[in-house]
Amino acid sequence: MIRFDHVTKRYADGTTAVDDLSFEVAEGELVTLVGPSGCGKTTTMKMVNRLIEPTSGRIFLEGEDISAIDPVELRRRIGYVIQQVGLFPHKTVLDNTATVPHLLGWHRRKARDRAAELLDLVGLDPSVYGGRYPDQLSGGQRQRVGVARALAADPPVLLMDEPFGAVDPVVRERLQSEFLRLQSQVRKTVLFVTHDIEEAVRLGDRIAVYGDGRIEQFDPPAAVLGAPATPYVADFVGADRGLKRLSVTAIERSDLEQPPVVHLDDPLPKAAARLTDEGARWAVVLDDSENLHGWISLDAVTSGSAGGSGGSGGSGSSGSSGSSGSSGSSGSAAGTVRGHARRMEAWLPLGATLKQAFSTMLQHDAGWIAVVEGDRFLGVLTPARLHEALRRSIDADANAIAREDVDLETVAGA
Ligand code: ADP
Ligand code: MG
Repeated sequence: MIRFDHVTKRYADGTTAVDDLSFEVAEGELVTLVGPSGCGKTTTMKMVNRLIEPTSGRIFLEGEDISAIDPVELRRRIGYVIQQVGLFPHKTVLDNTATVPHLLGWHRRKARDRAAELLDLVGLDPSVYGGRYPDQLSGGQRQRVGVARALAADPPVLLMDEPFGAVDPVVRERLQSEFLRLQSQVRKTVLFVTHDIEEAVRLGDRIAVYGDGRIEQFDPPAAVLGAPATPYVADFVGADRGLKRLSVTAIERSDLEQPPVVHLDDPLPKAAARLTDEGARWAVVLDDSENLHGWISLDAVTSGSAGGSGGSGGSGSSGSSGSSGSSGSSGSAAGTVRGHARRMEAWLPLGATLKQAFSTMLQHDAGWIAVVEGDRFLGVLTPARLHEALRRSIDADANAIAREDVDLETVAGA
């Protein structure tokens, strides 16, 4: 969709802002360009919509060399969002959003309808905000208008240059989530500039890590965090990259531990025996359909069965469980797991990230969390397993990178 072919930009004073850059962005892909200030990110962006012309090399948009496209026509195909949103102060939010459709000569009515639709899409109710002026909005709301405006003419490509750089961290995180949701609907080809590796990791399908006019690494977030290509990238990504990695690694079945399982209608002595057999201090409680209900501790099981009908059930307990289940007389749940089980608060669906797992553990002060698929219980994740999962994902990426290197050498040698 967008292709850079040996692009260099040297400014008049001799600064080489971009140095022999080649890369390609696929249709519908969101690529984040990340790096410290002054490394050439903005220059890269502005060459795409011809606000800056390269010194050498070529840039292609949908296969067309952009130097052959009229800049005004080109910019209609490219939405552009910057940090200083640049809304017209004397125009309403609705008219600001409709700017490009107006320029394109759309009917006033159609342009305004489209603008209202876009405001809605970025989470601003047009009937509330449409008539306001930019200085009557918060910083976060102005950024949303900037995004809506860039999307108004439905361009296939979006360039975003630190669009959320000026808002506070809480609003920023919200804007990022909203933008991800939006992108999943509109699927634009996006180049997104940021100096924040956290933001780059969160948003990017792939990340281009910039260092001084060149791309040091161009990979999916997990690979950048897990297997930095150069010492520079490792340094930029930072010492806490294990933490960042948590947010890009999903829980898998093989990460789970299988604790003892009891059922709601199990008599307590049976449950106690099960826990004692396995030397466990708690068990997961499932309902009739094998769905997660909660958990029960060894203490609850043993004190319950001691205070209840006594240990006389003994070996007969498993035989009697069927009859007690069917007879309405056991309406009191006191003698079964049902009366002592606790609901499970700490659970996550399979595929949730390790970061979600970690924060769920912290939030519920839980030593383990249940993992489900739909309602079905699959197993539990413990801190030790979480750590192993983290190692697994780092190693997997390191191996993937090593293989690619081998393949490249084979090609080069051929
Ligand atoms: P970034 O967006 O990554 O912060 P820029 O692309 O804005 O970086 O700038 C890259 C380099 O080019 C910097 O060293 C900057 O000072 C320089 N530069 C940017 N614009 C100009 C210009 N118009 N004239 C001369 N040098 C410039
Ligand atoms: Mg910049």
